[in-house]
Amino acid sequence: MLFLVDAMLGNIAKKLRVLGFDSEYFSNIDDSKLIEKAKNENRIIISRDHHLIERAIKHNILLVYITKENEIEQFLEILKITHLQLDEISGDSARCTKCNSLTSKISKLELENKIPQGVLEYNEKFWKCVGCHQIYWEGTHIKNLQEFVRKIKLKS
Ligand SMILES: [Zn+2]
Repeated sequence: MLFLVDAMLGNIAKKLRVLGFDSEYFSNIDDSKLIEKAKNENRIIISRDHHLIERAIKHNILLVYITKENEIEQFLEILKITHLQLDEISGDSARCTKCNSLTSKISKLELENKIPQGVLEYNEKFWKCVGCHQIYWEGTHIKNLQEFVRKIKLKS
């Protein structure tokens, strides 16, 4: 399942990426281009812009219309339409929050002098984005999301 998240929902795009879902996001793109991209790449549009939603419907694009303000409730709206499974949160399947690329495991030795010593000492697993080379470790993006997913499960 591939997503295209509209400019107003950057936080949702980031969370979907950590959960391992391919989610394109552009802070500045016009609606026609967005619709074309969704069509060409078979992406589900996630948006809270009703003008965009109306256009997407005319083009028969699958979509999730976000109406809530709260992020947990917004996620519940997504789950209701897409039936995404949120069981596994792992650095191995997470995508880069910055560019949506896949990440791959990287050994501590390769990171010597490249990230703060304290981070190296207190973490065992590291990943590197294959696209923009951003480095990730569990403390950064996995643990916060585990808590978020736990809250969603309590509500769903
Ligand atoms: Zn990246």
